[in-house]
Amino acid sequence: MDRGKDDFLKEFGGDYGYPNSPKSIDEIRSTEFKRLEGHVYLDHAGATLYSELQMEAIFKELSTTVYGNPHSQSDTGTVTSDIIKEARQQVLDYFSASPREYRCVFTSGATSALKLVGEAFPWSSRSCFMYTMENHNSVLGIREYALGKGGQACAVDIEESGTYGKSSIKVCKRSSQRRYEYQDNTNAGDTCSLFALPSECNFSGVRFNLDLVKMIKEDSEKVLGGSDFCRSKWMVLIDAAKGCATEKVDLSRYPADFVVVSFYKLFGYPTGLGALILRNDSASLLRKKYFSGGTVAAAIADIDFVKRREHVEELFEDGTTSFLSIASIRHGFKLLNTLTLSAISRHTASLATFLRKMLLELKHENGANLCALYGHRVSKDLGPTISFNLRRPDGSWFGYREVEKLASLSGIQLRTGCFCNPGACAKYIGLSHQDIWSNVEAGHVCWDDNDILNGKPTGAVRVSFGYMSTYEDAKKLLDFLKGSFATSGNHCSLPCTKRLSSGQGIRVKSIHIYPIKSCAGFSAPSWPLSSTGFLHDRAWVLKSLTGEILTQKTVPILCLIGTYIDLSRGVLVVQSPLCKDKLEIDINPYSGNLGEEQVDLYSRRHNSSYDTL
Ligand SMILES: *Cc1c(COP(=O)(O)O)cnc(C)c1O
Repeated sequence: MDRGKDDFLKEFGGDYGYPNSPKSIDEIRSTEFKRLEGHVYLDHAGATLYSELQMEAIFKELSTTVYGNPHSQSDTGTVTSDIIKEARQQVLDYFSASPREYRCVFTSGATSALKLVGEAFPWSSRSCFMYTMENHNSVLGIREYALGKGGQACAVDIEESGTYGKSSIKVCKRSSQRRYEYQDNTNAGDTCSLFALPSECNFSGVRFNLDLVKMIKEDSEKVLGGSDFCRSKWMVLIDAAKGCATEKVDLSRYPADFVVVSFYKLFGYPTGLGALILRNDSASLLRKKYFSGGTVAAAIADIDFVKRREHVEELFEDGTTSFLSIASIRHGFKLLNTLTLSAISRHTASLATFLRKMLLELKHENGANLCALYGHRVSKDLGPTISFNLRRPDGSWFGYREVEKLASLSGIQLRTGCFCNPGACAKYIGLSHQDIWSNVEAGHVCWDDNDILNGKPTGAVRVSFGYMSTYEDAKKLLDFLKGSFATSGNHCSLPCTKRLSSGQGIRVKSIHIYPIKSCAGFSAPSWPLSSTGFLHDRAWVLKSLTGEILTQKTVPILCLIGTYIDLSRGVLVVQSPLCKDKLEIDINPYSGNLGEEQVDLYSRRHNSSYDTL
């Protein structure tokens, strides 16, 4: 075992690896995640992975059971409706939600559950939709419904200080938005308002103190300040889509009105299925507009008559539910319940705590920090989600797309950008409205390559752990970051410290020559100068057959092409990991016009025009 792992286990051995389960983490990985061989998968906040045994069980069940349409009264239909009933109960159990108080409505995902709440919420011009800055776009979108009815929307920061407890949580308003005045006759007493927060921020991993739920519902005046809204009935929505995969969201302690979840974030499969868990009394206040197959008790085609169904599930599930997917979730729950959520929570926390600590310790040779972490100073209660950006020794930023592309060449899967969480992104990176507007003006949109604008990152790198993540995953990421981005003396393969005497005490520590733009270079103990800098440094570029100049941004694998110049022989040596043979190119300017047609290497020696060698 490597010493690092020894040290890690000394500190975290009690939490890491499911010590009380039938299978160790290493057995889980080698028997249920064989397909992960060669991958370091660190995007569980994007989608976690299904176990291969889970899929075998699902396949076996689907291939031996006849599931009919749950709305059919036939035997096969009843089999389906029974399994759906069982699945609803499992979802409620997962959140410790009493079936007397809560219902589970299946949706196509967390997003559609959020949309359902937004659409059916009894908004009025006195309503307020209040939400923490850290929220997914799918939550922010609810404000369109509130504003559309003339209500207000406002973003808030939650500040917690000192010890955990009621009095130490503060809600600080940022901005209020109101779209247009809309007269309606509801009086303040009937007004409903909605407060939305994630259980865990999918950008920073910051977990929110869910004591807020009760405080807002029971004592809104004290928590939210003495504004008009306080007189309205406040309901609370928890976006648990990220958080509940690795930490319990306990509705018996935190009586939220609405909770949304997506199952692929819990156990990888199925996708396209989520749930809205809602309190009975809150459900009765919702006003759903649309009706459809499944949600009506009776309708008349040629006049405006419809009688809706009464049960909450029937009222909110349009059409036929994704019943084969619903039948599959018990195999996912079985897995989580065997490991237990509290052990998953401890396991993933051990990895995240370790990785955060190690990232903060990564340094450049000059002592500067390599990593700027987000969120770890805001809260001590952090989930297994870590966002950061990397800095060069001079403090300038590495673009996150560069990190992502190089990581993917090393088999490391991570996520970059803002992760659909613009509020957290702006808050933690420190982007003002002006910064964001000017980035948009400059053409930056989500998922593009504009990772740095005006010297500031437009997003971050995110790594996140799942229940099957291992120490080795974290270690490989650390080794990759250290090897690819931290400068250190042992970067040079040749002795590279040469003292160039200088009156001011400035000395050259190492010399690196990059003959071909975007390819790897080499270091040299000394090197001749030309009129434009080091001789042959960045003298050539690679072009595609269509004449486009190749760079690492578009062809990241270029960084694996090694180069070396043997001055005594006058040759440029080029080596690719994909070819056995080295390519030697004569670069002696007095040796005639060798190699003119054979190679697609172009020289830039004469000003900026590219010449064929
Ligand atoms: C993934 C995620 C969502 C959206 O879930 P979908 O399954 O894409 O609908 C919403 N909020 C958070 C915090 C998430 O992590």
